[in-house]
Parts: sequence; C-alpha cells; structure tokens
Amino acid sequence: MQGMESLTELYKIGRGPSSSHTMGPERACKAFRQQYPAADAFRVTLYGSLAKTGKGHGTDEVIRKTLAPAPCEVRFDSKTTALPHPNTMDMVALLNGCEIGQARVLSIGGGSIAFEGHGVKKPETVYEKSTFSDIAAYCKEHDLRLWEYVAEQEGPDFWSHMEQVWSAMKQAITRGLADKGILPGGLEVKKKAGALYRNQHIDESAETREHRMVCAFAFAVSEQNASGEEIVTAPTCGAAGVLPAVLYYQQQKHRFSDQQILHALATAGLIGNLIKTNASISGAECGCQAEIGSACAMAAAALGELFSLDIDKIEYAAEIAIEHHLGLTCDPICGLVQIPCIERNAVAAMRAINAVSLASFLWDSRKISFDKVVKTMKETGRDLSSSYKETSEAGLAKIKLE
Ligand code: SF4
Repeated sequence: MQGMESLTELYKIGRGPSSSHTMGPERACKAFRQQYPAADAFRVTLYGSLAKTGKGHGTDEVIRKTLAPAPCEVRFDSKTTALPHPNTMDMVALLNGCEIGQARVLSIGGGSIAFEGHGVKKPETVYEKSTFSDIAAYCKEHDLRLWEYVAEQEGPDFWSHMEQVWSAMKQAITRGLADKGILPGGLEVKKKAGALYRNQHIDESAETREHRMVCAFAFAVSEQNASGEEIVTAPTCGAAGVLPAVLYYQQQKHRFSDQQILHALATAGLIGNLIKTNASISGAECGCQAEIGSACAMAAAALGELFSLDIDKIEYAAEIAIEHHLGLTCDPICGLVQIPCIERNAVAAMRAINAVSLASFLWDSRKISFDKVVKTMKETGRDLSSSYKETSEAGLAKIKLE
C-alpha cells in the first residue's frame, strides 16, 4: 500500500500565482541551494509545461530571486518530450565555471516536488491508508469523524499549522476585498472582488446575495494569487479561492467557531490528499479537473463536516463535486492564472454548496464511489491531449483578446 503524506504537505502558505510553476520551483531552488552552498552560479532548464507557460507564470523570475545573489541562467526547452513528468526541471550548480552538482526535479502539483536521485528526501508518509473506502471503514468501526481520523494520524504540530492556514486564508480574503487596480501580466484584467462584495443589487434576494458573497470571496483569494501575493494551496494556487470562499461565507452565515472550521479544513485536506495520492492535483498532469475539481470536492467535504453530515454523505458530496468537473481543460490565456481561473474558482465554490445539498437529499441512491471517480479522473487526465494541460496551446488560450 502506498500511504499518504501529511496534510501539511497539501496546505502550503506561499506566494502565487502557480503552485506547480512558482511554489514548486521555489522550493526546489531552496533545497538545491542548501545542498550546494559553495556554488557561485546556477543554470536551470525548464521542460514541458514549465517551459511553455513558465514565462506567464513568472517561473524564471522566481528561480532567479530564490537563487540570488548567485546568478542563474534560466533556459526554456519546450522541444524535449521524453520527460518523467510534464513539469520537469534540471538544475546545475557551478563553481568557477565548473559543474559541481546537478539534479532533476519534478514539480508534481500543489507546490510539492520530487527529486530524481541526489538524496533530497520526499516527505514521509504519515497515513497508512490511501483509499476513501478503507478510511471510511476504519472511522465507522472506531466511531470517528474524518477529522478525528486525521488528528489521530498527524503529528503534534498539526493543529497549529492548520490555524496558520485558516489565518492566511482569511487574510487573503480581506486583502483581496480591499485591493483595486489591474492584475499584472498584460491582459488588463481588472480586480473585481471589492466591487462584487460592495455592489449590492437594488432588490437583491437572499440567494442572490449568497452567490455574490461567495463569489466575492473566491475572487478575492484568486486575485491575490494572480497578483503574486500570499495564499494557501487548496490544493493548488490556481484553485486556492474555492475552499476559503465556502468556509468564510458559511462561518459568517452560521457563526461556526474557528475550531469547527479547522475540523472542516482537516476533512477537506483528507479528500485533497486522496486525490493527490491516487490521481493528481496538477493541471499540467490531468487538466483543470485536477485543480478546480479537487478544490470543489474539498470544499464540499468541508461543508459536509460543518453541517455534521455522516461519512457516506460527505463522500457523496465530494464525489459529485469531482464527477461534474471530469474532463475540465486547463487552458489559461497567456499562461497567466487569470482567465478562466479566477471565475472558475467562484463557480466551483457555488458548485460545492450545491453538491452538499444534493448529497444530503440523494445519498442513498448513489452509484459511484469517491474512489472510483478519482480513478476515472486520473484516466480522463491521461487521455486529455497535452494541449489542454497547462500548455496554453489550445482552447481558451488560443483566443485573441480585444
Ligand atoms: S485553468 Fe485551472 S488548472 Fe489551469 S491554471 Fe487555471 S485554475 Fe489552474
């Protein structure tokens, strides 16, 4: 059995706009620099999706900043196709012009990295079980909620990490609602979270207000991400707005305590971890279904926990959320995490709320398990053309903006 890593590897606090294209390479550079402290220069070659959309995401800038003050030449190689992962990078450490070390790093999604050789360890696995059905059976046998299972498996520092995660999510919303102007990158996309939050419709119904608030919170985080500000991967930077938007809105509406929110975050994290382990949370690997679809499933599970739904209903809500994102393509215009990404976060946040209400009514008639839909998502991602996997070669990415 393969086991799963800690949720602290899933929820990472850092700067956007892309977990795989900025956070992952940033972590790789930090680890590589530590391994070769004597190096006086570096050379990094980006392949696959990192080469094709790295400029738009600012990957080269992040690499140079992280390795500074040593100079770094960044090369973009979009021709090489025999790669171990769509987000592959080669790093070379130099001293007086001579090579003193090299490593191949895979940015595997959600800011996580894996080194080929060279002894930088992958995070430990702290969960022995890695399917929803096994975890659900264990929880039922021991009368545990999913978050209690998480608490049982994680280390002593887990809840303090989750407090920081929730705090960073709330701060991103607050900053995003107050922010104005145009997003960087040249698409001239206006920051709209504040306007959405404040511009009440003249005879707004409660439902319309709910939609507007949830969307405003999702826009706030996603615009902060696109601005290179601090956000939390949930499970990635591109999909970082979905989960905080749902939790923040529901906390305001129902006065849930921060502790209840932390339990919901742990439940959501378990769902994200299962997808990361058994399929992918990387847009470059499986398309946007892996990012926004996963975020939607996490938010649905979190909301199910807040509403004290039983495990079967939480499973169904998360399953619905993924099922209706199957095949969703990743085609960001100019490689910027803006169009369609920001709106997509808002739509997925609403969809998570809908998935929970549907699951709470229809759970006893369901036919597809969470584990099955995750497997299907992986297969669908494998079958998707690479043009729709964060390469900006097709779909919306081909549209010329006026
Ligand atoms: S389209 Fe989806 S997967 Fe692609 S960058 Fe945007 S949010 Fe991420």
